[in-house]
Amino acid sequence: MQIKALRGTTDLLPPAVAHWQFVEKQARDMFRIYGFKEIRTPLLEETLLFTRAIGETTDLVEKQMYSFTDRGERNITLRPEGTAPIIRAYLEHHLDLKPGLARLFYVGPMFRAERPQAGRSRQFHQIGAEVIGSYEAQVDAEALSLLRHFFERVSLSGYTVHLNSLGCSKDKKEIGLTLQKTLEKNKDALCAECQERLHRNVYRILDCKKKECRKAVETLPSLLEKLCPDCTTHFETLKQYLTHSKVPFVIAPHLVRGLDYYTRTAFEITHPLLGAQDAVGAGGRYDGLVEELGGEPTGAFGFSIGFERLLLALEAQKISFEEESPLEIYIIPVGENLLKIAYEILHSLRKAGISSLLDFEKKSLKAQMRLANHLKARRVLLIGEDEVREKRVTLKEMGSGKERKVSQDRLVEELLKEIGKEKR
Ligand SMILES: [Zn+2]
Ligand SMILES: [Zn+2]
Repeated sequence: MQIKALRGTTDLLPPAVAHWQFVEKQARDMFRIYGFKEIRTPLLEETLLFTRAIGETTDLVEKQMYSFTDRGERNITLRPEGTAPIIRAYLEHHLDLKPGLARLFYVGPMFRAERPQAGRSRQFHQIGAEVIGSYEAQVDAEALSLLRHFFERVSLSGYTVHLNSLGCSKDKKEIGLTLQKTLEKNKDALCAECQERLHRNVYRILDCKKKECRKAVETLPSLLEKLCPDCTTHFETLKQYLTHSKVPFVIAPHLVRGLDYYTRTAFEITHPLLGAQDAVGAGGRYDGLVEELGGEPTGAFGFSIGFERLLLALEAQKISFEEESPLEIYIIPVGENLLKIAYEILHSLRKAGISSLLDFEKKSLKAQMRLANHLKARRVLLIGEDEVREKRVTLKEMGSGKERKVSQDRLVEELLKEIGKEKR
């Protein structure tokens, strides 16, 4: 029986990989401009990290983690998100002792055991960032401004930034109690799961996608009305800075994030062409997490973008991506015993940075020309007995069909000049 990729995982093949590279390159560029540095944490972590950071009663920890016991009886989890591992690394390597804020970004796979559907797979990819070391609302505004610039770069349009504040941990506790009391009165209107959530983790009800629960949530008062004065000021400052930097947003007074660690700012970015799974990115502030994981009280803000979702949205918008960089030269030796000299030329071209290929299978000229076409080679370099004698090669432009002879000595130099001109 043939072995296939696991359900919910995808092979990324060329040429689609070029789209991924394009998006990643724009993201890396944007992070550089905004002063972020890359961090790469392991895909495997101790399960305890996520249960403690994300919360025992969240859907993610209860139902979606890829956890297993390894040979040493250790409880291991494939990372379902990027923030907790980064905070772990931040503390483990004492990045908190360095001057200034830690501005870190990451690009990589995450794992969640969910039912695969459009825009949701078990191995998915995120581009994300964390700013650790500040409570200031300007940090939140700056990150959202980065996202706006990034979306502009990749030509994503028509998205909406939904913005809310969950309040500090004290507010969250009080608001949670109020929510419980209010929802308790009409408990039967909620889905079975949410009735059970009511006393375990009432905030999850605000996240429930079931119609009856959404209806019940709509009637709830705005979370923003219940914030303490400090949290209200924080949110006002954020809104001012967003308006200044022309980041459009809408207030979503019942928006919560699926992970328990969020405090104050919470946001989600949706795209209308994505269907049911319409969030392309999300994030917020998590001022309690560093302390929860054993550090000093530290303000922090983070976000992540769903790589697959972003690409789906761009494809739905019919954005055309840059082609993969072309193959400049396809070398065809015409005649016996020319493979060796062809191989030497191949080597000198590659050394000069010119992408080139040579077929070692000794196919006919016709078959090789066909292959050069299939590979979309810009030029074919023909070497025959005569050429070897004259120390020359024949260059054939695949586009125009034009041919010319070039001396072997001047080949690299001429090609570099020509390719340089084409790139300009
Ligand atoms: Zn507060
Ligand atoms: Zn529900």
